[in-house]
Amino acid sequence: MSEEKKTSLESIGEFGLIEALTKNFKNKNASTIYGVGDDAAVIDKDGDNVMLVSTDALIEGIHFNLMYTPLMHLGYKAVVVNLSDIYAMNGTAEQITVTIAASSRFPKEALEELYKGIEKACDFYGVDLIGGDTTSSVSGLMISVTAIGTAKKEDVVYRNGGKENELIVVTGDLGAAYMGLQILEREKSVYKANPDIQPDLDGYDYILERQLKPEARKDIIKFLKELDVIPTSMIDISDGLASELFHLCNQSDLGVVIYDEKLPIDTSVSTTAIDFDISPTTCVLNGGEDYELLFSIKQEDFDKIKGNPHMTVIGHYTAKDSGLYLVDKQGAAIQLKAQGWNHFG
Ligand code: ADP
Ligand code: MG
Repeated sequence: MSEEKKTSLESIGEFGLIEALTKNFKNKNASTIYGVGDDAAVIDKDGDNVMLVSTDALIEGIHFNLMYTPLMHLGYKAVVVNLSDIYAMNGTAEQITVTIAASSRFPKEALEELYKGIEKACDFYGVDLIGGDTTSSVSGLMISVTAIGTAKKEDVVYRNGGKENELIVVTGDLGAAYMGLQILEREKSVYKANPDIQPDLDGYDYILERQLKPEARKDIIKFLKELDVIPTSMIDISDGLASELFHLCNQSDLGVVIYDEKLPIDTSVSTTAIDFDISPTTCVLNGGEDYELLFSIKQEDFDKIKGNPHMTVIGHYTAKDSGLYLVDKQGAAIQLKAQGWNHFG
């Protein structure tokens, strides 16, 4: 490494780093249909069917704080965030491998608790734990999960398949997991200041559950199949709606318009956001960890999803040079910024 040139990770960000590290790799095998750049890699199985592979790690101090995260919930969440990436390709998740690195601070019982959560998720989503690796760590806990799934080749939905004027759809509601985190962080600070004060978590059940025990939208993949709708582009919302819209638009070579008044938000999220002096819209755009699906559909498929309580049309794709915009409740167009989670920011 030369002495002169040192680029900080902060300055290039997570996605700049991935691009820099992987750009020289060329796929050598015909079976590699799609490598780096989507929610999961796509590998040919037999010409008609593909295997989907995705990995995500959760690191203590970065992705979770054991002061308020029960280990069983953490195990469950570690599986869910990975399955979410398989569903984001319109696939069926079938297997996982799990790697853990734990410091000597963790007794066997703690890791068994973690695995109880992993087991619950495996049962609920119908996936098999097929292997992994176990190692020690100097400090803290790390869990890395690899999810493996399948799909018919023709059913796979990539981030890059969108077309101008197609409708942008989001599942469930957004911003709750982020507000749940704000509540937990607030109670942690209160506790640190005075350990005799009991945490005040009453009335926050929904947003706390969305943070501590998120679910992946396996059900949506089933609904879409039943409705005979194949999205044209899709991504799961791990880093926040705005950041995921940037990924879809970059890869589909498009712009987008979304409407503030259409964004799905639970009333408990808006009231908590206002209590915290955060705009509910900011919470929806930049919160992250919702693990909902964001996808586009052809205009002619609108009737098939209309009135479905799990799916909301929030806008449409535009031409690339139109940029990415949010139309606020007063009708003003505001340029979107990709302020999702940037792990080095
Ligand atoms: P997601 O948020 O859907 O999990 P990521 O943003 O983590 O996706 O990753 C984007 C793409 O970059 C994926 O295709 C992922 O496999 C790839 N990727 C991420 N980190 C690395 C790495 N260190 N080396 C190679 N590929 C990577
Ligand atoms: Mg993803």
